[in-house]
Amino acid sequence: AADRRREVAAGAGEDKARALNDLRDRSRQEYLAKREEQQLLIRRRQLEEEKALFRNEKLTHRERADMEYRERLLELAEQRRRLDTEAKVDAYQMPESYIQEKGKLDRNKVDAALYGRYEDDQNGAFVSEQDQWEEHQIRMAKQLDPTAGGGDDANPYDFVFDEEQHIQFVMQQTLNKDADKDAPRVDPRVAKQMSMQQVRQSLPIWPLREDLIAAIEEFQVIIIVGETGSGKTTQITQYLHEAGFTKGGKKIGCTQPRRVAAMSVAARVAEEMDVKLGYEVGYSIRFEDCTSDKTVIKYMTDGMLLREFMTEPDLASYSVVMIDEAHDRTLHTDVLFGLVKDIARFRPDLKLLISSATMDAQKFSEYFDDAPIFNIPGRKFPVDIYYTKAPEADYLQACVSTVMQIHITQDPGDILVFLTGQEEIEAAQEQLQATTRALGSRIRELIIAPIYASLPSDMQAKIFEPTPEGARKVVLATNIAETSITIDGIVYVIDPGFCKQNSYNPRTGMESLIVTPASRASANQRAGRAGRVGPGKCFRLYTAWAYENELEENTIPEIQRTNLGSTVLLLKSLGIDDLIDFDFMDAPPAETLIRALEQLYALGALNDKGQLTKLGRRMAEFPADPMLSRALLASEQYGCPEEVASVVAMLSVQNSIFYRPKDKAVHADKARQAFFHKSGDHMTLLHVWTQWAETNYSMQWCYDNFIQYRSMKRAHAVRDQLVALMERVEVAMVPNADPNDPTPILKAITAGFFYHACRITRSGDAYRNIKHNNTVVIHPTSALHRKPVTDQRAAQSGAPMGALPKWVLYHELVFTSREFMRQVSELDPRWLLEVAPHFYQAKE
Ligand code: ADP
Ligand code: MG
Repeated sequence: AADRRREVAAGAGEDKARALNDLRDRSRQEYLAKREEQQLLIRRRQLEEEKALFRNEKLTHRERADMEYRERLLELAEQRRRLDTEAKVDAYQMPESYIQEKGKLDRNKVDAALYGRYEDDQNGAFVSEQDQWEEHQIRMAKQLDPTAGGGDDANPYDFVFDEEQHIQFVMQQTLNKDADKDAPRVDPRVAKQMSMQQVRQSLPIWPLREDLIAAIEEFQVIIIVGETGSGKTTQITQYLHEAGFTKGGKKIGCTQPRRVAAMSVAARVAEEMDVKLGYEVGYSIRFEDCTSDKTVIKYMTDGMLLREFMTEPDLASYSVVMIDEAHDRTLHTDVLFGLVKDIARFRPDLKLLISSATMDAQKFSEYFDDAPIFNIPGRKFPVDIYYTKAPEADYLQACVSTVMQIHITQDPGDILVFLTGQEEIEAAQEQLQATTRALGSRIRELIIAPIYASLPSDMQAKIFEPTPEGARKVVLATNIAETSITIDGIVYVIDPGFCKQNSYNPRTGMESLIVTPASRASANQRAGRAGRVGPGKCFRLYTAWAYENELEENTIPEIQRTNLGSTVLLLKSLGIDDLIDFDFMDAPPAETLIRALEQLYALGALNDKGQLTKLGRRMAEFPADPMLSRALLASEQYGCPEEVASVVAMLSVQNSIFYRPKDKAVHADKARQAFFHKSGDHMTLLHVWTQWAETNYSMQWCYDNFIQYRSMKRAHAVRDQLVALMERVEVAMVPNADPNDPTPILKAITAGFFYHACRITRSGDAYRNIKHNNTVVIHPTSALHRKPVTDQRAAQSGAPMGALPKWVLYHELVFTSREFMRQVSELDPRWLLEVAPHFYQAKE
């Protein structure tokens, strides 16, 4: 136990490191803001002194112009600063769960320590502070957690197997305690033998279908609430079709926040209706349209329906629109709420269904003018909730151990594990495979089935296959399995308590995906997955104390924590000019809206009255970030649309192009370096693309070059779509006149990404963003990454050495230990004046 405690306290704890990242991120932003304020004061004082000094001097025209220029700049900066402080900064919150507890942690001390760390970043003093902080956290958690330490009368969890490795759980509470333990159970194996029709009739929604249709006939807007798996998504569309809502060529549309869900339910419904997917039943997701003229039931991502407003502002071809998974509150779903509420007023024949898992029904009803709520009573079984006794240092390892513990000690029933993304899922899969291989025939068969967004659809089907007798299935899923898709046969849920969320700070304009503690609402949804076929168990890899004290009650709606650039552009192109008064269910922070408008103005999409320009109208055609659309359109002017389309397509899969098997790392690195272009990563991506295209998109070539074929295929599909869209806005697709000159391509990229221009710092190993003044460094995987010449070890390792370019531009920032720029290219600062003269002014 002492070892265990030391392990936990050692600071290797991934979960705590991540939490610390959040804290660090937030503190850093506060720190930067404070520093900015100070710098402004100093600049102002200097300027005033200078002005006083030269008051009686006769200045040359040049000197006066210089002083006026600097004063103008300073005024602008001060204005911006005032805006920053006046705007409702409180409306936006970084996850603070780890520091909010009173008495748990002295905020001032932590801040002092953290700020201190940024002052002497180089000295490496931080590591011990992190250790200290984490130790403190664990100490406090243990003191306050009544179950830690003692726990003699808590239900000890029985082990039979290498106890050293085992995680101690305590049973703490039971979800759905009052649920009927004797309710009829559906054995998935029996279910598989039922006919498709019998399966449909066994769903909780079946007995209600006539009532539901009657309600839909009577009311224009209905809120539908029901447990996950009751049949909302797959059945309601079919009932509507059977009831004649698709007569006269009208469609039923059903939106999903996630593309995997849209594809998977469409496939299921096509199967149930015994039609070919893409005909009567189809789906539409970004860069992939699987529908035809015949399609009457259309599943699509919420983002796709949003784009349909551009071609069909009243959604005339739909008789019913169902906004599914409304509780998810994605950005696109929230915007759709406002739009469909609006068109429902002048299209009385349009039926609107807002369906959601059991959360927030009242709020939806109020928003939609007190629309009636239709309840589908679910089939629920009790779920026992287990917590760990002490915080887990490494939740991935803990997941693997728990899976094995369940597999070895527990009754039959499949396992569902919630992880945050593809990388984690693949790592867990590898570890589980290694463990089961090592145990060989000593254990029963364990079928490992991953599911995440970019998994090919044929492999996604594996999660739905019934588990053979005697075996057990473990599904490794992202939070797509929380409510979007239901997997029958799950009895055990493992919940590490994290999810990946985007986070945006309008003040610095920085956005990133970070791993964040999940909310209590989502933890309970996850637990609920264990109780669908019979009583279940949920293992939470955190303490009961953490659940009560460290998790937020609900997830913050995405609209309040994301960049709104492309949304604002889309709304503007739909003719919605007054965004401040747009009917949002929860309004985005004013500051975020202002930033989005400002950026669209800088990109030339809006004029100074905030109206859409011709350029903006064309940009809105692309389902992409405005910066990318701008780069695509700028390629026309620089004569290289072919190449820029390729670069942008490659950027869409940038993180999964190269692979690096551990046993062939050296070869993989060599292969990768062979693609490097001296100007940086954008041209490197183009290199990969053109060489692959020249082999006629060969799979073997990918294999030989340590490139992921799957990602390249996706880039290919994206590129085809981009080219089609570019042709639609009348860009003549021509190749760069001089294939050896990257300048036109990089200029076009700069036209979109000038906000991301950075200048090298005096120390020569980092960069400063010229707009936001934050310090960033080049990601080690970049073609431009250099080891400092002085580093002896680096010299021996053969890494390229030497000076870094003075100016660079990046595609995105990622936060880990520092702010890293990913996909970086060298920049000629004169391009900035050329591509965005209204944004950058030459100094005389
Ligand atoms: P809800 O939307 O209310 O959560 P669904 O309509 O998604 O419920 O699910 C109803 C049933 O259909 C569940 O039993 C689920 O397992 C099954 N189902 C959904 N999609 C698939 C699929 N792709 N393959 C097999 N079964 C599926
Ligand atoms: Mg559903």
